[in-house]
Amino acid sequence: MVATNAKQIWQAVLGQLQLQVTRPSYDTWLKNTQGVDFDGSTFFTLAVPNAFVKAQLEDRMYELLAAALEDHLGHPVTIKFSTSEKSPEEISIPPSVESSQASKKTLKVPQNSSSLNHNFTSDSFVVGASNELAFAASQAVADNPGIAYNPLVIYSGVGLGKTHLLHSIAHKMLSTGLNPIYVTAEEFTNEYVQSIRENRTDAFREFYRSADALLLDDVQFLMGKDRTQEGFFHTFNALHMVNRQIVVASDRPISMLSLLEDRIRSRLQGGLVVDIQPPDFETRMAILMKKAENAGHRIDSKIIAFIAERINLNIRELEGSLSRLLAYSDLMKAEITLELVKNIISVSEIKPRISESSILNAVSEYYGIDKRSILGDQRDRRTSLARHVAMYLMREDASLKATSIGKLTGGKNHATVLSACKRISSLLTKDNSIQRDVYMIRELAAAG
Ligand code: ADP
Ligand code: MG
Repeated sequence: MVATNAKQIWQAVLGQLQLQVTRPSYDTWLKNTQGVDFDGSTFFTLAVPNAFVKAQLEDRMYELLAAALEDHLGHPVTIKFSTSEKSPEEISIPPSVESSQASKKTLKVPQNSSSLNHNFTSDSFVVGASNELAFAASQAVADNPGIAYNPLVIYSGVGLGKTHLLHSIAHKMLSTGLNPIYVTAEEFTNEYVQSIRENRTDAFREFYRSADALLLDDVQFLMGKDRTQEGFFHTFNALHMVNRQIVVASDRPISMLSLLEDRIRSRLQGGLVVDIQPPDFETRMAILMKKAENAGHRIDSKIIAFIAERINLNIRELEGSLSRLLAYSDLMKAEITLELVKNIISVSEIKPRISESSILNAVSEYYGIDKRSILGDQRDRRTSLARHVAMYLMREDASLKATSIGKLTGGKNHATVLSACKRISSLLTKDNSIQRDVYMIRELAAAG
């Protein structure tokens, strides 16, 4: 019981940490850690893959982990780290993301199901209007690799199911005896660089060309990496020529992948490009129900709806909130009530504060309307929408008061601001295109 709790608690904390650290850093240091023991008060033990990760977590990330755990548990604890294996070789690996252990492994052994997430199957993927095209295309490609759509490109904002779909394709192909290779663009880059360094480009080439399918995740990582793009381009052509399936996932539209060579972009655009939108309310409900059920919980649909209404853009966050809730209820033996949900969700959904100017810039860039018009009095549909979204985000993400927002947006009164915010919140519960606008603008604002 204690061990299960430690595991669940840590899963929930990881969900939170994922929002706080950069992705490479999460993938390198945190992804493969596990909560293994918690005595209920003082000590929390984490299993980490090797001594090298242990050293990094102890030396550089301890405060962060301790704070996240404390946040979650409501009191401080001491973290202990345990490693199952300690090889001196692993300890001496330089602390660079570029030469990860994973890359060495993939070069030698062909893909097998152990390097895939077992939960990312097509059965566990909830299909709704926002993702049905991407799902159908993935199924078609897994059933008829190299025939139906080649290449297949899936794009969406973060946390909406791209990796899940790529893994599900790989699972399906493996089950029919095919040899797919799933690799993130980051791993691909590391391997490529390493093969050049070690004069093994032949082995690299051969490895990839032996695949029945290449599933390349997070292709945006290749941006600006000219040499690796060269390597990818040749691999792509070699596979494509013999009708091997290529699937690529990107967290932005291919046309927005600047710094990606034109010839690669046009190859990708020549295939089938499908996007995944933020899920609508029903799909969010269905996802939460399914996840709760899989975790052995039955939760009142009113409570599920409460969460689905509030977290509406990112499925990873949706899952994170649910697992925090389940972990808390198990740990505290607390019944899951609306009260409990309100507490847990408000405590955990702390968004980084975004400045009002980055919001304005992002809104202006996204809608292609200059800032002066947004701040002015023009009342055409598009300009008012942009203005209202800006007001809404200033309130939600920059935590500004209505009066200040009024001043910042060209001297509007505070009732105008409030009604704009209300309008957008209500649209967000039912209108997919607004959900998408707000999602993309948040990403732009966070980046700028
Ligand atoms: P991305 O690669 O687009 O950032 P992921 O594939 O990693 O997103 O998905 C984030 C999380 O949300 C994963 O745990 C995944 O299983 C879950 N998820 C995404 N879409 C769905 C879906 N349609 N049904 C069930 N779970 C989903
Ligand atoms: Mg992904």
